[in-house]
Amino acid sequence: MRRVLLMTLAICLAGRGVQAQGVRVVDLGGGIYQAVGAGVAGGSTVRVPQSNTFVVVTSGGDVVVDTSIAAAAAHQRALLAVSKGPIRAIVLTHAHGDHTGGIPVWRQPGTDVIAQRGYPEFLDYTNRLDGYFARSNVAQFGGAVRPQAPAGRPPSRAPVVGMPPVDSRPNVLFDETHRFEVGGTTFELFHTPGETPEHLTVWIPKLKAAFVGDNYYESFPNLYTLRGTRPRWALDYVDSLNKVLALEPELVLPSHGDAIRGRDEVKRRLTKYRDAILYVHDATVKGMNEGKDVLTLMREITLPPELALGESYGRLTWSIRGIYEGYVGWFDGNVSTMFGPPSQGYSAIVALAGGPDRVSARAQEVADQDPLTALYLTDMALAVDPTHRASLEARISALKILDARSNNSNERGWLAAGIRQAEAKLK
Ligand SMILES: [Zn+2]
Repeated sequence: MRRVLLMTLAICLAGRGVQAQGVRVVDLGGGIYQAVGAGVAGGSTVRVPQSNTFVVVTSGGDVVVDTSIAAAAAHQRALLAVSKGPIRAIVLTHAHGDHTGGIPVWRQPGTDVIAQRGYPEFLDYTNRLDGYFARSNVAQFGGAVRPQAPAGRPPSRAPVVGMPPVDSRPNVLFDETHRFEVGGTTFELFHTPGETPEHLTVWIPKLKAAFVGDNYYESFPNLYTLRGTRPRWALDYVDSLNKVLALEPELVLPSHGDAIRGRDEVKRRLTKYRDAILYVHDATVKGMNEGKDVLTLMREITLPPELALGESYGRLTWSIRGIYEGYVGWFDGNVSTMFGPPSQGYSAIVALAGGPDRVSARAQEVADQDPLTALYLTDMALAVDPTHRASLEARISALKILDARSNNSNERGWLAAGIRQAEAKLK
């Protein structure tokens, strides 16, 4: 039910977003066109997806690569100016909703919908946890405290929502490679796990063009996403990026953001991206073998300047923890953790400190200078009294300061969710 409600919400937002915002079509040469622009639904704080739709026009009909979600209908309307032929195939780089949401818009009788073999299982996994993801997606993508990013900053990426359209199931699945031809253009598909385990890359040899889905974007990748996911294996990313690099593309088309043009530029950027992921992976594994705990490594590991990618979407710290716990799970070797987290001792500490009034007063006092300490203090006070007003107020102060300092869209989503939650308790 929750999924149906979310779907309805998304469709409503899509409708408003379409009217509110124009779509740009970029001619990338060789019959490849990219529809860009999704926009934010009018009057809503919910950020709707910013993902691309690609059409490859051939003399024998057209091929769509990824379909967007909220802007799918607007993308299609714009692309119909160049795409006149029947849609022979829709290729899905992966099963996230912001790439598959527009399938019903494009699918015609006889259109093949093509994905990697793991696609149905990934959808089943997403649907099995639909209640969980409904909550975590709203928290992560539900709206920012400050206005949207100013121009020039990378666009926030799409909600990765567990709401595939009803008729989105592909009818063609492949394991490692798949090749087909439309109007004299050959399409080669490769299994390239990364963002998801069933992720694929589309390669058009005669154009030297690679559609890399979400295995590349303008930020350190979200090797672990806060909304919840199974580990995104760093070494899968590395292998998949190597597969793409080996093709020596001259045009790389990510499903969020702009195309990368020119063989040298493609090589430079994909190599740097791969090396940054590998660096973080290897440093984490080295630290694990040296007996360092996960929090120490989250503090210690930073990228050398020549590999810095920015953290507007993924965060190094979350990725390090994702790699660490992806390898060995949640137990940290501290004997008390066997019985539960140390936070079980909060009420005893708060009593020693003189009660929640004293603790929250201290939190409010340090919020400006040290919002993280303030936040942790309110965790402790609220463990004793979950509706303690002064603690909730101090918490909101701390979260707003953290938000003002943050440049990461996912982090800001969760900070906004924390503020909403505290405000709701105050009412
Ligand atoms: Zn995406």
